[in-house]
Amino acid sequence: MNLEQLHQLTKSGNIYAPSLTTYQRRETIPVQIGDLMLGSDFPIRVQSMTTVDTMDTLGSIEQSIRMIEAGCELVRITAPSVKEAQNLENIRKGLRERGYTTPLVADIHFTPNAAELAARIVEKVRINPGNYADKKRFETIEYTEASYAAELDRIRDKFLPLVKICKEYGTAMRIGTNHGSLSDRILSRYGDTPLGMVESALEFLKICEDENYFNIVISMKASNTQVMVEAYRLLVKRLKDDQFKPYPLHLGVTEAGEGEDGRVKSAVGIGTLLEDGLGDTVRVSLTEDPEFEMPVARDLVNRYIDRRSYAGYIPPISTNKLPSTQFDSPINPFAHARRKSNDVYNLGSNQLPRVIADFSQKEDISIESLKAIGHFYLPEPDKWAMNDLGADFIYTGSKEVGFMLPNGLKQIQDYAVWKQHQNKQAFPLFRTFELANATLHQELNFVAVDAEELIKNEQFLQILKAHTTLVPIVHSNNAHNMPEIRRALFELMLQGVHNPVILHFTYKDLSLDQIQLFGATDAGALLVDGLGDGIMLSLEANFDTMPQIANSLAFGVLQASRLRISKTEYISCPSCGRTLFDLQETTAKIRKVTDHLKGIKIGIMGCIVNGPGEMADADYGYVGIGKDKIALYRGQEVVKKSVHADTAVEELIQLIKDDGKWREKE
Ligand code: SF4
Repeated sequence: MNLEQLHQLTKSGNIYAPSLTTYQRRETIPVQIGDLMLGSDFPIRVQSMTTVDTMDTLGSIEQSIRMIEAGCELVRITAPSVKEAQNLENIRKGLRERGYTTPLVADIHFTPNAAELAARIVEKVRINPGNYADKKRFETIEYTEASYAAELDRIRDKFLPLVKICKEYGTAMRIGTNHGSLSDRILSRYGDTPLGMVESALEFLKICEDENYFNIVISMKASNTQVMVEAYRLLVKRLKDDQFKPYPLHLGVTEAGEGEDGRVKSAVGIGTLLEDGLGDTVRVSLTEDPEFEMPVARDLVNRYIDRRSYAGYIPPISTNKLPSTQFDSPINPFAHARRKSNDVYNLGSNQLPRVIADFSQKEDISIESLKAIGHFYLPEPDKWAMNDLGADFIYTGSKEVGFMLPNGLKQIQDYAVWKQHQNKQAFPLFRTFELANATLHQELNFVAVDAEELIKNEQFLQILKAHTTLVPIVHSNNAHNMPEIRRALFELMLQGVHNPVILHFTYKDLSLDQIQLFGATDAGALLVDGLGDGIMLSLEANFDTMPQIANSLAFGVLQASRLRISKTEYISCPSCGRTLFDLQETTAKIRKVTDHLKGIKIGIMGCIVNGPGEMADADYGYVGIGKDKIALYRGQEVVKKSVHADTAVEELIQLIKDDGKWREKE
C-alpha cells in the first residue's frame, strides 16, 4: 500500500502519534482490570504469561508468585479448554490466600466456552480475533458483500455472549490480533498485512461498542518488527478516523526468541512505539522463564517515566518549515521503504546498511583486537578471514594502525591526522568546521554532525548537496535522541539531500541489558522506517569487551529491523501451558546445530495456535502437536506430520539438507 492509497483509506494523513518530535504519551481511555488501572493516566504496566500446565495448580501459583515478585503486574494463564478455565478459580484462590491480588488474564484460542467461563472467574480475558470464531483451513475464499456480511453476523452470534458476561462481571478484555493467526476471511480480503490485522480487531471491537462495552485493550503482535510497528500505528489511526474510543495498547513482539536476539528484537518493536508515546502495557516474549522477562520490560518502559524532565531533554525542535507537533511526516509510517539515498562507495541506495566499529578510544589497535569485530588473521595461510558479523569500517580516531587491514574492513580516521599522513588505507572524518577549503577523498568522506546543527545549518545542507561523497555520521546530545535524529533525517528528505547517513549513538554508565535495549530502540526506531544507511555504536566503558558487544548489537539491530541478515533467525515462542515439550531446551538444541545457517529462519512453536501463520515468515517450522510429537514444516506446509521429539531435530536437519540449504560448520 502506498501513501496515497492509505490517505484515501484514512482521513487524517499519516499522523499516528501525538508528536513525532517531543515525547508525549497518546491519550487513552482508562481500563480497569481488577484493582489495576491501565491507560495513559497510569504508568505503563508490565506483564507476562505462565509456562506451566494450567492444570498444575500449585505450579501455576508458584510461578505466578515468582513473576509477581519480579515485577509482573498482570499474570496471563492459558485456558485451552473448559477444564483449564475452571482451574483458574483454584489458581486465583491460591494466590489470594497467599496475599497476591495481581489480576489474572485468561488466554483463549478457539474455545468460546472456555472464555465465557473464565470471564466469570478472572479479571481479564484475552481473545484472538483470528481464531475465536474461525477454524484455520488456509483457504482463500471469494466473498461477496452479502456473504461477508453474513460471516460478520456469524461472528457476532459467537462473540456476543462473552461481551455480555464481561460487561456483567466487570471483566476486562484484550482483543489480541496476531499476525500469524489471521482468519481465512481476513486473509482473503486484506491479505497477510497490517491492514488485515487492524480490520480483524475492528470487526470484534464494533461488536463490543455496539453493546456499550469499552473495558478493552488492543494488541497487534507479529514477530516481524516492521509489520508489528506498522500495524499498531495503523490501528491508532483507524481508531481515531473511525471514531472509536482511544483504547489502551498492549505492546509485544511475538516469538522474539531468547538471549540477546530476543531482547534486541523486542526492543526494536516495542521501543519504536514507546518512543512515539504509544503503548500502555508491555509483554516481552522471551524463550526463557517468564520472570526473566520482567527486568527487560521494566528497562524498556522506565525510560519514559518523566522523560520530559530528563537532564539534557531539549524541547522539540520547531522551525517554520516543520511544526513541532502534528505534521505529515515525509515517510509512510504504515509501509516500510528505505529513504532514497545516493550510491556512495559501499553505502546508500540499495546497499546493505553498514556497521562502523568505534576504536577511537582504544590505546593499542592490534591484529588480535579485530577478532571482536569479526575479522580473524590466520597465520598458516597468512590471510584474513571474516565471519558473518564482520564490521565494514573501523573508526580509529587520531590513531594509526600498524598493519595492513583486511580487505573487508576499511579505516576511518580523523581528518587532521589523515591529511598529515596522507593515509591511503583510510577515509577521512571531518568535523563540520573543517569542511571549508578541505581536501576531500575522491571516493568517500565522513562528517560528524549533531542532529540539531544539521537541521538548523542551511549552509551545511548546501555543502552536503554539493559534495555527494560526504556521508554525515549523525548523533544527538538530546536525552531523547531518536526523535531529534529522525527530525534531522526528515529535514534531509524535505530539502532533497540524498547523501547516505550513518546513525551514531553513544552509551555510558548502563548495564549490558540496558545497552542492548536502548541501542536497539534508538537505532531500530529509525531503521524500521528506512532511515539510515549504517550504524555506529560507541560504548564508553571497559574497552576489553565493548567492541564485541557494540558490534554484535549493531548487527543484531540490523537483523531485527530486517535490513541486514547476518545470522540464522529463530522465531521461537515463549512457551505457555499449552507447550508439550521443553521449549527452552529444544530451542537451545536446534540453535546449537543450525546457528551457522545465515539467513535461514526457523520457527520453533510450542503449539499450533500461532504456528503455521507465524511461520509464514519462517523457512522451516518445528511445532508441538501432542505429547513428544512434533510436526515439521517447510514454510506453511507440513512435511512431516508426527515425528517423535527424540528424533525431530535430526529430521529437521535432514529436511534442510534435502532442500540443499545445509552447509557444514566451519
Ligand atoms: S505458540 Fe507457544 S506461547 Fe503461543 S500458545 Fe502455543 S505454546 Fe503457548
